[in-house]
Amino acid sequence: SGRFSKPSTSTKRTTFADVAGQDQAKKEVAELVEFLREPERFQKVGAEVPHGVLLMGPPGTGKTLMAKALAGEADVPFFSTSGSEFIEVFVGVGAGRVRKMFEAARKAAPAVIFIDELDSIGRTRGTGLGGGHDEREQTLNQILAELDGFDGKEAVVVLAATNRPDVLDPALLRPGRFDRHVTLNLPDRAARKAILDIHARDLPLDDPGNLDDIAGGTPGFSGADLKNLLNEAAINAARRSAGSITAQDLQEARDKVLMGTVRTLAIQP
Ligand code: ATP
Repeated sequence: SGRFSKPSTSTKRTTFADVAGQDQAKKEVAELVEFLREPERFQKVGAEVPHGVLLMGPPGTGKTLMAKALAGEADVPFFSTSGSEFIEVFVGVGAGRVRKMFEAARKAAPAVIFIDELDSIGRTRGTGLGGGHDEREQTLNQILAELDGFDGKEAVVVLAATNRPDVLDPALLRPGRFDRHVTLNLPDRAARKAILDIHARDLPLDDPGNLDDIAGGTPGFSGADLKNLLNEAAINAARRSAGSITAQDLQEARDKVLMGTVRTLAIQP
């Protein structure tokens, strides 16, 4: 129906090699790769593997990237949707979409389902004020029903991302639901360098050593911020009609992203 992204075979697979840093999170997610690759091995001995995994962490720390990497490492289809897509739909529509997505994933199993921005549907029930409240609640109830419907051996792993685990309905976190939690953190200096290296792979830097300085000068930047920074620097170079990206392009881009970050932080409640 095109309501959620269908598994794709045309684009390059994302793997753990695309995720810099986040070693602990990678280790935890890697345990699921084996299960998705060879579910029969687990099913044969009656081993139940967790179905629901909550990815927690600040915006831009690679939650979506990690979910894609799990599907890529296991080489299984990836179904994704975002909680924000359900906010303004009619009552019943959101629940129907959730049902269809789970149905498609079960059919394609082994498979990975990813629900981004879980908090926009998964907030504690009974706290909404009219409006889309009923709809949100029905969508949430459908997710809970789908998670409860797994027979323990079906090879479907459901990852959900949130940067507000504190507002989630406790029903989502009960055993058998999103009962495994993986935290992604803002990168430290070494991880920032590694992220810059990944995203600068195909960029013409006049001196790759400049990335060291940028890694040192970007505390608090997320992976998404760093990717943004490199793109801004490339735009700077293009504006100058230059063939390579200089230290000054990078510094200016850093300042620009930093201002954007400050602005975004300032409007947060
Ligand atoms: P949000 O909470 O805003 O949805 P997110 O945590 O899902 O963000 P992603 O969308 O996965 O973050 O990250 C945005 C982009 O930043 C990714 O596509 C990736 O290119 C880059 N990125 C983030 N973290 C990393 C990382 N650890 N290694 C490499 N690239 C990263």
